[in-house]
Amino acid sequence: MPQQKLIQLLASAKELHASDIHLSPQRDNYHCYFRLNGDFCLMEAYSLTEAQKLITYLKFQASMDIGEKRRPQTGQYEILLDHQKISLRLSTLLDKSGLESLVIRLFSEGDILPFYKSTPFLHHCLQMFQNTEKNSGLLLFSGKTGSGKSSSMYGLAELLYQTHTRKVITIENPVEHYHQAFLQIEINEKAGLTYQEILREVLRHDPDIIIIGEIRDNETAQMAIRAALTGHLVLSTVHAGSLKGILNRLTELGLSKSDLAESLIGISHQRIFSLYCPLCAGKCQPYCTHLKEKRTVLYEYLEHDAIWKQQTCALSIARQFRKGVCYGYFKTQSLERR
Ligand SMILES: [Zn+2]
Repeated sequence: MPQQKLIQLLASAKELHASDIHLSPQRDNYHCYFRLNGDFCLMEAYSLTEAQKLITYLKFQASMDIGEKRRPQTGQYEILLDHQKISLRLSTLLDKSGLESLVIRLFSEGDILPFYKSTPFLHHCLQMFQNTEKNSGLLLFSGKTGSGKSSSMYGLAELLYQTHTRKVITIENPVEHYHQAFLQIEINEKAGLTYQEILREVLRHDPDIIIIGEIRDNETAQMAIRAALTGHLVLSTVHAGSLKGILNRLTELGLSKSDLAESLIGISHQRIFSLYCPLCAGKCQPYCTHLKEKRTVLYEYLEHDAIWKQQTCALSIARQFRKGVCYGYFKTQSLERR
């Protein structure tokens, strides 16, 4: 039964905190892989019939066209597992052998990591919290894809919400974390619901905190600045490889130095690192339960005044990393690897 198979699969993915499930066609069967802490792990093999039934069942549930295999498709649907809502995003591609490959990305409710638990060194988190606690303006997160920017942004918003009860509205494409108390809006560019379109409406909805998934064009950047200058706290991410890169990126997006000087509260850059597990003597095996979190973030942060004065962070990621090595959190060689 594909439904039971799916429930088993999701329960096991949830237990291991997998972010994605892959059903990949092989020559005469399917391999099921989990993405665990960024690693690609083979979990089990399915027969062709078993996997195809499961794929058809999932496509049907996600209102995808089950008769169409040639064209890549995407779909989504939600399922309750142990009273917890899990949202599945599906993507299919046809392999040259004529078999479909399926990837399921999992998003679950209540998976927001508390901001102060995101890193072993709290200095920058405290600064960010203090800077945003009573202020309006724009705070930007940057880092590579998969560095946990969006988790950090949610973590901070959650902390601010818990301390002061604020109205939080998120605008994203797609929503990556679910929060019961946040009003979460999804971009749908095909339907004309772009970032700037939604942001305009959101401003009329009396928010205190606005989370914008990503600033990637001039219009969104301008709207974010406008929101920040009209008494809102705006949290967002930009694609940049370093703290300095954030300012370059913002200038590239057409923002003037005076706009930025007026609205920026702070800029943060982050990298994610695997924590050293002494029991597994290095990186954790999929079933290791020794470490609750297998990875951690290190931040670099500059607050308003520092942005314009020196443009380097005194407590750099490299410095925190070296400290982490002394404390036994990291293995020496892993700084260069990620
Ligand atoms: Zn371990």
